[in-house]
Amino acid sequence: MLSHSLGYPRVGSQRELKKANEQFWSGKINREELQKVARKIRHQNWEIQRNAGIDLIPSNDFSLYDQVLDTSLMVGAIPERYHQLIDGKSNRELDIYFAMARGYQQNGLDIKAMEMTKWFDTNYHYLVPEFTRNQMFSRYSDKVLLEFEDALQKGIKTKPVLIGPVTYLLLGKEKEDGFDKMDLLDTLLPEYISILKELSSRGAEWVQLDEPGLVLDLSHKQKLAFQSAYEQIREAVQPLKILVATYFGALEDNLSTATGLCIDALHIDLTRGAESLPVILSDEDFVLSFKKLSLGVVDGRNIWKNDYQKSLEFINRAIEVLGENRVMVAPSCSLLHSPHDLDLETNENVLTGEIKNWMAFAKQKLNEVSHLARLVRTDWELEEDFINNQNAIASRKNSSLIHKPEVKKRAESIVDADFERVSAFSARQMLQLEKLELPLFPSTTIGSFPQTDEVRKLRSDLKKNVITIDQYEDRIREEIISSLRWQEDLGIDVLVHGEFERNDMVEYFGESLSGFVFTQNGWVQSYGSRCVKPPIIFGDVERPEPMTVKWSAFAQANSEKLVKGMLTGPVTILQWSFVRDDQPRKDTAFQIGLAIRDEVVDLEKAGIKVIQIDEPAIREGLPLRKSAWQNYLKWAVDAFRLSAAGVADQTQIHTHMCYSEFNDIIDSIAAMDADVITIETSRSQMELLDAFSAFNYPNEIGPGVYDIHSPRVPTVDEMVTLLEKALKVIPARNLWVNPDCGLKTRKWPETEAALRNMISAANLLRESV
Ligand code: GLN
Ligand code: ZN
Repeated sequence: MLSHSLGYPRVGSQRELKKANEQFWSGKINREELQKVARKIRHQNWEIQRNAGIDLIPSNDFSLYDQVLDTSLMVGAIPERYHQLIDGKSNRELDIYFAMARGYQQNGLDIKAMEMTKWFDTNYHYLVPEFTRNQMFSRYSDKVLLEFEDALQKGIKTKPVLIGPVTYLLLGKEKEDGFDKMDLLDTLLPEYISILKELSSRGAEWVQLDEPGLVLDLSHKQKLAFQSAYEQIREAVQPLKILVATYFGALEDNLSTATGLCIDALHIDLTRGAESLPVILSDEDFVLSFKKLSLGVVDGRNIWKNDYQKSLEFINRAIEVLGENRVMVAPSCSLLHSPHDLDLETNENVLTGEIKNWMAFAKQKLNEVSHLARLVRTDWELEEDFINNQNAIASRKNSSLIHKPEVKKRAESIVDADFERVSAFSARQMLQLEKLELPLFPSTTIGSFPQTDEVRKLRSDLKKNVITIDQYEDRIREEIISSLRWQEDLGIDVLVHGEFERNDMVEYFGESLSGFVFTQNGWVQSYGSRCVKPPIIFGDVERPEPMTVKWSAFAQANSEKLVKGMLTGPVTILQWSFVRDDQPRKDTAFQIGLAIRDEVVDLEKAGIKVIQIDEPAIREGLPLRKSAWQNYLKWAVDAFRLSAAGVADQTQIHTHMCYSEFNDIIDSIAAMDADVITIETSRSQMELLDAFSAFNYPNEIGPGVYDIHSPRVPTVDEMVTLLEKALKVIPARNLWVNPDCGLKTRKWPETEAALRNMISAANLLRESV
């Protein structure tokens, strides 16, 4: 039985690649120095995997920026606007690569980057391939060959990993009308075939083609594309062995398409699609074929130890039907989505021994795979590796650190009324109108203000004990006061305290709630050189004490105007953390919902009349399959309602979202029943308000009037035009005026200029109606 790995984290355990990339972009190191860092990371990764005893080690899973972008370069899908950078004489591959990733503003040229979007339902972002009607493909980059050769020289015959041709097309975007990207398959395949042939002639035995597209809802035509692609590939590249990797979900109605492919091995994800296994094992055609089945038993998207008992049962079941030779064992997906190495977590104050013992990061997950491959041939119950593992699993099951009977009891006794405000929106709106005394088109901001180096240093000085907590809090109070005066001077109607005390909108709350832990080095790549260090929700969540009341109450006490309380919602906290896998996500979301609810109620008691609960991540939590949407949306909306519904009608609840597609979930957005929702719309020129108007969305809306992602200061006219557009579809009494999102990444001067113009725009609008 072969063990293998689908891919390894590539930023380096100390984020070496991030640092090298950023130095390269700012001209501090040259391309050779960058390549040297990259090569070193690849070599280390191969070494780690070899030492773990993995049989088939991947190559080309490394990427300087993104594996989808690598594929676009491999097949030469380089959009027209970058062609001016191609220079016949010198090798500009790296320049073109980074221009596609990040845009190019040099030598009088200004070329836009490619669009970035989420990789399936993960927090990783890829660069969206762009296709035109007459799209041609022709090999541009030999990266996959070079990395294979490089490993070979180190004595490792790797299994090169490529994004499969069908998934590659599925991930791309048609940039012109009048064609279907799936029709490009026949033009694309020769490039794949030529690369695969070359790999084979250089000695490759196995190659992995990632086709996670097989866990999505597919049309008949798309299913046929899979079938046809692999028939053609098989025919052309014998004797190279092809493994097709599916992950992130069950195969469901694509199962027979997947098992019927002309390939040598099929990988399935048993952490998210275990139901595929018995179906495949009873599929006569598959069983009678020679194909191998690779079992993704170790969760590549989480940080928990694998339960060997459960995995060994899966493996054994497959072996009974297929024989040991036809079974492979692996992580569920590439380990790109887990942090590097648990051994680097050495600070007991950050992560205690007991909790650490429940975890496995990428390096540990490889050991798990190789343990499983060995244990299955033994009387495993007597083996030390097995016993240790089961002890850890048992300790987690029973630990009093995790299980808090009062929290579970409270969650169980939630009743329907807990999701409901006292009155319906129309009644609340009247009461709020009276109580809050806001003008028509009230203005506000989304919460955070520019995070200067000085403010960041304050927080880090506190962490390092360079300043005392009193000194720190004095300084934060000063920041709050000066931001209040500044907002009053600008003429904003509903003020915010500025979020100066927050490092990150999820981490801040995780640090105050029980049931969360943090890591020192648990970095995961989000895109390019950006990494995140998600909190870990390991146990029942409780709010030991108020988290934000002190700051909000202080701010409100220091202004005659309304100051908005600012919270992160339960779904967003869940979505941006590593979540416990021993209970449904819904249960964890409801526990967080209850904790936020208590905070909302305490804010109200402290005299805060407007409270915003941010939920920017609701949309990204959507399951990959449409059939699972309703179930998710129901509990996600309920978790939000639970957090919001504890207050009186007069208290105004806001929410904020920054996603630009609401059409298909507008009924759920409405079901959240926030009194006011502020959304990102300026980049779509208010187009996405159409969804709200088509739905007759009843509550108040603040469609962002300017894009905060750019330092550009919008003119008054532009914003008036956008607001007038919004007024065509939103009743005047429901319209708010605000930017797209929080301002923490901006600088003060541009923020002031932009908000000044925004207030002028609101005033002009008031005069005109
Ligand atoms: N209140 C948060 C802020 O202003 C919202 C951030 C977000 O939407 N991502 O930073
Ligand atoms: Zn936002």
